[in-house]
Amino acid sequence: MIANPFRRRPTFEELFVLLGLPPIKGRNVPCPLHADKRPSFSVFIGSNGIERGKCFTGCFNGDVYDLYARAFRCDRKTAFIELNRALGIATATFQLERPLHERFLPAPKTAPREERLRPSLPLELGDERMVVDLSSLRRLHEGGVRLALERGLLRFGHYLKRPAWIMTDKSGLLMQARRMDGQTWFKESKAITLKGSDANHLLGVGEAAEADLLFVCEGGPDMLAAHAVAYEMGLLKAFPEERIAVTGLMGATMRPRRATLAGLKAKQVVIWAHADKSGLEGAKEWKRCFWAKDRKVDVIPANEIVPGLKDLNDVVSSAGGLAAIIAKLGGLSHA
Ligand SMILES: [Zn+2]
Repeated sequence: MIANPFRRRPTFEELFVLLGLPPIKGRNVPCPLHADKRPSFSVFIGSNGIERGKCFTGCFNGDVYDLYARAFRCDRKTAFIELNRALGIATATFQLERPLHERFLPAPKTAPREERLRPSLPLELGDERMVVDLSSLRRLHEGGVRLALERGLLRFGHYLKRPAWIMTDKSGLLMQARRMDGQTWFKESKAITLKGSDANHLLGVGEAAEADLLFVCEGGPDMLAAHAVAYEMGLLKAFPEERIAVTGLMGATMRPRRATLAGLKAKQVVIWAHADKSGLEGAKEWKRCFWAKDRKVDVIPANEIVPGLKDLNDVVSSAGGLAAIIAKLGGLSHA
């Protein structure tokens, strides 16, 4: 990369105008940084050919960016960006590694959807209290909740003025909020997918690129439960926790986009299906989506681990549930 040849330096004269100071007449002006009756501030060309300013009382000695930084109490980098922008000076750099003709290719006309629309809500990491509250609300081990938080798939915030826990990922394409008090939004929505979300986005797919074992879940509670499984498997040395990724779709009728699955390396995929009609049908479709020549995809409905239970969260929080899950997974890898 080389510096943009069209770039120029702002001059002290331009900066003085920008700061609303009297124009520079001659070489010496009153110093803008201290109450100055005499013209103590001198503008001159330094030995490197760059314009410099110096106050003879010793209060300033630097270039135009240094003066901006002093005037606005910011660092030099911020001064560089802001001053150039204020004066309309381009600071982009050319990529010399790319062939010349490629540099001037027009931008694609249709920006991908994700460039246009994103849900927006201020998200927090929460504190220890929130981790504990959420673990007891979902009846899950804190280790799993903390793991989801560490991996950036769980956040906390306020939605409709109520404390909420939010499933999201680094792509920011989808946010789904549930209430921290376990109540529903309005009459019966347990979860709200925020406006601007891509409902078919597979949460955590970007974070899952390097994993060997991939969990696919339906909904936020099962994603937390799957993190509890990953945490437990790590503890028991059944499988290295960092090689297990958790992903999720926010409903059985959602379908992951095949293109987004192309980067996954996982050789083994486990779909934790809800043991109801829509959950099982969804899981069948998901299996098709995740299928690849060198990949093994299994669907495990909750009631196949513990009879009578509906989802992974139920299983993980039931007595002996985690052990049954790990036994089931062990059976799969030896199959
Ligand atoms: Zn001064």
